[in-house]
Amino acid sequence: MPRSSSRIVAPVVEVFASFQGEGLFVGEAQVFLRLAGCPLRCRWCDTPGSWGMRVEKPARIQRDGEAVQHEDRLASPFKAALWIASVEPGEPRTVSVTGGEPLMWPHFIQALKPMLGARRLHLETAGAHPEALGRVLEFVDHVSMDLKLPADMDEPVELDPAELEAAGAAPEDDDDEASTLAPINEAAPRTPEAWAMARRRSLDLIRDHDACVKVVVSGGRSPRAYDELFEDVARRAPDCPVFIAPATPIGGVSAPEFQDLVAVVENARDLGLDVRVLPQVHRMLGIA
Ligand code: SF4
Repeated sequence: MPRSSSRIVAPVVEVFASFQGEGLFVGEAQVFLRLAGCPLRCRWCDTPGSWGMRVEKPARIQRDGEAVQHEDRLASPFKAALWIASVEPGEPRTVSVTGGEPLMWPHFIQALKPMLGARRLHLETAGAHPEALGRVLEFVDHVSMDLKLPADMDEPVELDPAELEAAGAAPEDDDDEASTLAPINEAAPRTPEAWAMARRRSLDLIRDHDACVKVVVSGGRSPRAYDELFEDVARRAPDCPVFIAPATPIGGVSAPEFQDLVAVVENARDLGLDVRVLPQVHRMLGIA
């Protein structure tokens, strides 16, 4: 059950209306709620500005064609819902909560859902925190899970609670009401074995949920390197559609050779997976 405390908050990077650039709902007009805080370090990360929680930085609220509005970064679910409604150009839209890693804030996601009316709530996550995923699953209508190759990850970092303590927060303690202000303390995976365990637990959770998985394929990797991801999907969530995204060359990451991309797709298809190739549309459109 969600906590009833009005003290639930999370650091918001930005709220804006745009088009979904990835996954099952690509092209759909949505509102994006980007939460700060991510302990992971993907080599192709396009939002490193969302890694830290830095409450002294303002949240950016932008309605199309209007100047960016700056607000206090630490927001309640109620305030976030007001911002969401304020940036929608027309009828209410599906809300994608993204990051950062939004699973740092399960209490916030739980409390946000009832404030969105009939809007769908979609979660974009790396699936590295299955305990937190289990807490929010019944509150989200769709999960879009990025499966990561451990080899594509740098060492994770601990989120620094001091960044939130400056705003009166405290480290999580389930017996403490103040925990609603702090990120989860579920450790990020550090080893290939820990990654495999987290991935499998997360896939087990989304097996019977509305969900899709995404795999970014970069250059310089053997097409067989992705087998461990596909084999887990085939065993754990075989009906989940798999979106394969050739990496956009950025930050030292290269795009895959076309023949390698074809081989990755065929390897996944050989396992019976429902595979689709989709370029990173958000990058083509210049959507962060
Ligand atoms: S999980 Fe997302 S925000 Fe975190 S490092 Fe990876 S791509 Fe960046």
